[in-house]
Amino acid sequence: MQIAKSIAQMKAARSNSPGSVGFVPTMGYLHEGHLALVKQARVENSVVVVSIFVNPTQFGPAEDFKTYPRNTERDLALLQKKNTDIVFMPSAEEMYPEKFSSWVVVEKVTDRLEGSCRPGHFKGVATVVAKLFNIVEPTRAYFGQKDAQQALVIKKMAADLNMNLEVVVSPTVREKDGLAMSSRNIYLNPQERKTATILFKALTLAQKLRKKGESDAEILRQQMTALISREPLAKIEYISIADTDTLEELSTINGQVLASMAVRIGQTRLIDNIILKQNP
Ligand code: AMP
Repeated sequence: MQIAKSIAQMKAARSNSPGSVGFVPTMGYLHEGHLALVKQARVENSVVVVSIFVNPTQFGPAEDFKTYPRNTERDLALLQKKNTDIVFMPSAEEMYPEKFSSWVVVEKVTDRLEGSCRPGHFKGVATVVAKLFNIVEPTRAYFGQKDAQQALVIKKMAADLNMNLEVVVSPTVREKDGLAMSSRNIYLNPQERKTATILFKALTLAQKLRKKGESDAEILRQQMTALISREPLAKIEYISIADTDTLEELSTINGQVLASMAVRIGQTRLIDNIILKQNP
């Protein structure tokens, strides 16, 4: 496994990589969700590149950039076990030199949900991912459904800017009790960890109501809100039943829709989602 710590090293490694290249961008502190993407990339490509970069430009001033969990040694051991070929770990100084002034802004789909709660977040995400794509030049890039809006934003960016790669979105990996795996779960104390299962419970409730034939999106939102509101440690930021492509809030459900939410459990902000199918 090669470790590229500069852009030049990554580009050199890329030019020595024949065949298809599968790329998994991450912020590190890896868990089974990340590793499932690496595994899929391994199956589908000749060369697998994983990046570890905690991207400062996607964090708001009051967010957790400084305290975001990091453990490079453990990450590298996990990636080695998954037969990763190249790990790209650039520095923030090299990614964003002093006179950096070019940004990628994806409009509309970023106005809602995470975009409205975290102003500037997707500008940082789209910019860093565009830079990583230019440096790594992947054949395929792998993203998790866990961050559904992010996956949509990247797909839109790649299509609008004619990027020469395929964006692959893979299912959310969950703990046994349903909690979506996330590097931020480490912030939860034992009591909060128990409470955190409420996100998946609310999504499961929406799925159950939909299965029974409920097509009023507001009833789904209300029932999910009522369930989560019973938990004193949980504070809802948004509960959404939206179109899977535009993320516009729906009043009536027809076909597939995205049920998604952001909930604070104590100080920790968690997001989760599922696609509600008509005949699940
Ligand atoms: P992050 O390190 O949080 O930026 O995540 C890197 C990639 O892993 C993103 O494409 C995420 O959507 C994906 N990811 C994070 N958690 C999960 C999960 N529980 N299941 C599947 N993919 C995930």
